[in-house]
Amino acid sequence: MKHYDYLVVGAGLFGAVFSHEAVSRGRSCLVIDKRDHIAGNIFTKNVDGINVHVYGAHIFHTSDKRIWEYVNRFAEFNNYVNSPIAAYHDETYNLPFNMNTFSRMWNIRTPEEAEKIIESQRNEYIAGMKKERGLSDDEEFVPANLEEQAISLAGRDIYEKLIKEYTEKQWGRPCTELPAFIIKRLPFRFIYDNNYFNDRYQGIPVGGYTGIVEKLLEGADVRTGENYFDVMNSAGTCHEGVLSDGERFTFSKLLFTGQIDEFYGYKFGPLQYRSVRFETEKLDTDNFQGNAVVNYTSKDVPWTRIIEHKHFEFGKQPVTIISREYSSEWEPGAEPYYPVNDEKNNALYEKYRNLSESDKDVMFGGRLGLYKYYDMDKDIMAALDLAAKELA
Ligand code: UDP
Repeated sequence: MKHYDYLVVGAGLFGAVFSHEAVSRGRSCLVIDKRDHIAGNIFTKNVDGINVHVYGAHIFHTSDKRIWEYVNRFAEFNNYVNSPIAAYHDETYNLPFNMNTFSRMWNIRTPEEAEKIIESQRNEYIAGMKKERGLSDDEEFVPANLEEQAISLAGRDIYEKLIKEYTEKQWGRPCTELPAFIIKRLPFRFIYDNNYFNDRYQGIPVGGYTGIVEKLLEGADVRTGENYFDVMNSAGTCHEGVLSDGERFTFSKLLFTGQIDEFYGYKFGPLQYRSVRFETEKLDTDNFQGNAVVNYTSKDVPWTRIIEHKHFEFGKQPVTIISREYSSEWEPGAEPYYPVNDEKNNALYEKYRNLSESDKDVMFGGRLGLYKYYDMDKDIMAALDLAAKELA
């Protein structure tokens, strides 16, 4: 019977980075994934020469030179810069919130004009909120939720046309019940700069993301279409598994990158996640929307955004492939995408995390295992940190 140092559950980015680090330090890994392909949610599939981001748009960005150099070992990155467009009824704006957005919104040109308008909307709002909370003029107003954060940062016009309805569609909750940090992800600047990220390094891997994960997994045994819970149930003991073809194996330690609440049988109750559904269509036109990402920020349009995949790699194909993205609450059977990091869910996650501390031979990783709204660079960083600790 084959023995592995590590059983890695989930062939996504976290599992693949950990496995790469383990293999390169002479350890053996079996990586399993319940899907019939590797790469988790960064999986891309080539259709008619276009790399389709099957589980939603992934744009790599980081300020960490070490992480940038690390990913560049596994792919060549192009010079794509994410500059989404927002469509609000018949109005079109540049994102993130910058002088292009403000000049279109108020027909102005200078930072001074924009700052004046935002300042007056912000002051009016903060004064009202202070009154409501019984705060004196000298006391500071601290935004307690996403709505308060957004209006006190960007003013009411921006909030109402570009944030409120989009956010409520994406998260399925009122902005007053969402954590402020979600909106802090977006840059807000008084220069004419449509770059969605503030990071030093950015790009899309030429040829798609799947190739990166393929390379990371070299040297590990990889089995797709294998559900961890079935693999373990068939064996009946905790350091042994049986694959669907009947092959038995043993392992010393487990890295689990699926949902931590599912791992523990939902014993404290289920954590909440947001799920996303994609409606993908091939169109007989070479350019549908002129941009990779268009956000639909009004609630009367049921999808949150439309991705036109070819534009991530400056494609010149005669056809195009688009995906409409619909957001919904996760329920069993759907794909979990985003942890809902509000107070209630974070507290519940802590219970699972505490429980996991006593499982010395089990490690957790990734957005689902750590219940964190990680971008790819942070996910890699967390996997490298775990590897450094574990494999020292
Ligand atoms: N957001 C918004 N309007 C937009 C784009 C984003 O209000 O047009 C807010 C929304 O609350 C969203 C958050 O900013 O959840 C973070 O957006 P990001 O694009 O980082 O989300 P992701 O790409 O991770 O889905």
